[in-house]
Amino acid sequence: MHYETLFQEIHRELQLIGEIGQVADYIPELAYVNPDQFGVHLTTVGGEEFAFGDAEKRFSIQSIAKVFTFVLAYSRVKSTIWERTGLEPAGTPFNSLIQLEYDKGIPRNPLINAGAIVICDILASELASPKENILSFIRRITGNQSIDYNSKVALSEKKTGYRNYALVNLMKSFGNIKNDIDKVMEIYFHICSIEMSCKELSQSFLFLANNGIVPYSGERILSVSRTKRVNALMQTCGFYDEAGEFTFKVGLPGKSGVGGGIVAVHPEKYAIAVWSPRLNKKGNSYKGMLFLEEFTTKTRSSIF
Ligand code: GLU
Repeated sequence: MHYETLFQEIHRELQLIGEIGQVADYIPELAYVNPDQFGVHLTTVGGEEFAFGDAEKRFSIQSIAKVFTFVLAYSRVKSTIWERTGLEPAGTPFNSLIQLEYDKGIPRNPLINAGAIVICDILASELASPKENILSFIRRITGNQSIDYNSKVALSEKKTGYRNYALVNLMKSFGNIKNDIDKVMEIYFHICSIEMSCKELSQSFLFLANNGIVPYSGERILSVSRTKRVNALMQTCGFYDEAGEFTFKVGLPGKSGVGGGIVAVHPEKYAIAVWSPRLNKKGNSYKGMLFLEEFTTKTRSSIF
C-alpha cells in the first residue's frame, strides 16, 4: 500500500474545505503555534514507516500523555487500579467537576483530567522519581532519548490550572488522593507539557498494536489482555466528549490532545499519528479527525 501517495491525496482534499477551528488558547505557548501546520506518520508493526508534511516537528502532546501514564500505572499496580478510577465514558467535558461530585471522587475513567490526576497520584506513590521515571518510560518505548518536558508549558499549565486544582481538591476530600496535592499536580502539569512529533507518537504507541510488545526492542509492556483493555478504553474514552463520533467516523482506538495531535492504533497492523493544531468545538483536531476518517475509509482499515 502506497500510504504516502494516499496521505498527499487526502491532504489535498482537506485543503479545499479551508481553515476551520481554533487553536487552544488557554496558555500562550499553545496560542502562538502556527495553526496551519500539518503532519502525519504511520508505523506498521513490521517496521515500515510512511510520513507526510510536518511529521517530524514536535508539538505539545497534552492529553495524549494520559495514555502513557495510565499504561505505566496499569503495568505496576494491576487490577487494584479500578478501585481508584472507573472505566466508563464520561459524557461530560474532560475537566468537569459535576460527575466527580456525584461519583464521590472516583473519576469516570483514567483518560479524563480527574482520572489522569489519580493516575499521577498512584505513580507518585509507586515511583522513586516520578517525573524522571515517566520520561524514561516514554523514551524507552519510543526508542528516542531526546523526548522531554517543556518547562515553560508546565509552568503555564500550573498558573492557569484552577479547574485541575479544583478536581484534585475534590478528590482529596473524598480520600482518593493519597499524596500531597502539589506533588501530584507537579507530575500532572509536566506530563501535559511533553513534546513529541507524529513520528515519535506513532512509534511510541506501536506496542498497543503489537499485543503489548515494543517491536523494536522486544520488551513486553503489558499482557495481551491488558493491551486489549487499554485499546478498549481509548476507543470509548479517548476523545473527550466525542469518543462516539470518532468511533463512528474513524473506527480506531486512539487518543487526542488539545495541542492538535491524535494517535490511533489498528491492532496487529499499525499506529498512526496526525497533527493539525486547529481544534473543533469538542477540543479534538478538526482536520486530524477528518484525515483519519478518510484514511480508514479509503484503506478499509477501520476495526469495524
Ligand atoms: N493541559 C490540559 C488540562 O489539564 C489538558 C489538555 C488536553 O486535554 O489535551 O487542562
